[in-house]
Amino acid sequence: MAKGYDAHKDRQQAIAGFGKVLAKRAGFKCEWCEGDQDVRTVDLDPAAEPTEATLALLCEPCRGLKTSKKIDTTRLRALSGAIWHSEPLVALGAARILAASGEDWARQIVEDSLLDEETKAELLKH
Ligand SMILES: [Zn+2]
Repeated sequence: MAKGYDAHKDRQQAIAGFGKVLAKRAGFKCEWCEGDQDVRTVDLDPAAEPTEATLALLCEPCRGLKTSKKIDTTRLRALSGAIWHSEPLVALGAARILAASGEDWARQIVEDSLLDEETKAELLKH
């Protein structure tokens, strides 16, 4: 088992190896908002082995959503469609942001989605 720097490097290489597959799946667009601003591969589950299911192509503004507190409504609306993404982790990532926004309509989208009830309850408990 590689450790530290080597493990990180191996992981980056493994992730880079999925670049083409992801680009094809996403049509070279952001998988949350379909924007095309500086689209890059994002690791949705750093604890797991990288696979197609744990990676997403996201644009620069969407990557920033993971850490921003106040999200403008236009951007929230742009990513509301991603809750129906065929990859569960891509959908879940968008759902998490919609739920955390505190906007009633965004939380309703999470409520109406196909995520399992346990996940919805967890996302909407606040
Ligand atoms: Zn985006």
